[in-house]
Amino acid sequence: MESNTHASFLGNGFRWVLTSEERSNIAKILEIEEDTISHVKGNVMCRERMQCGGCGKLSGLDDLVHNAVTAGVHNRDFILEVMAGGPQTRAYAHKMQCSNCSQGYEGVFINWGGYMD
Ligand SMILES: [Zn+2]
Repeated sequence: MESNTHASFLGNGFRWVLTSEERSNIAKILEIEEDTISHVKGNVMCRERMQCGGCGKLSGLDDLVHNAVTAGVHNRDFILEVMAGGPQTRAYAHKMQCSNCSQGYEGVFINWGGYMD
């Protein structure tokens, strides 16, 4: 079940495969080298990517990271851990905003953490 969203169904969730653009955005937001997260292939979410009603951007891991940093609720180490922690990472639910135009995506997103393979 491949769609235009780079996401595929994974039993208990949807893989959001990290795009090079997202990786680059995340590195910028976290002020790290892209190499630092080169092992992160994506993360597992409760739903497929959504398109932003404001600018048309597809929701991505970069939005999650952007939200976490701007909300000030998670420090960078925690974010890196969640991204690379694998499915054993405790799931957390939250609202998500577009990192490009700040419009909110509809509904709640649950993140099961990242994966490496
Ligand atoms: Zn947007």
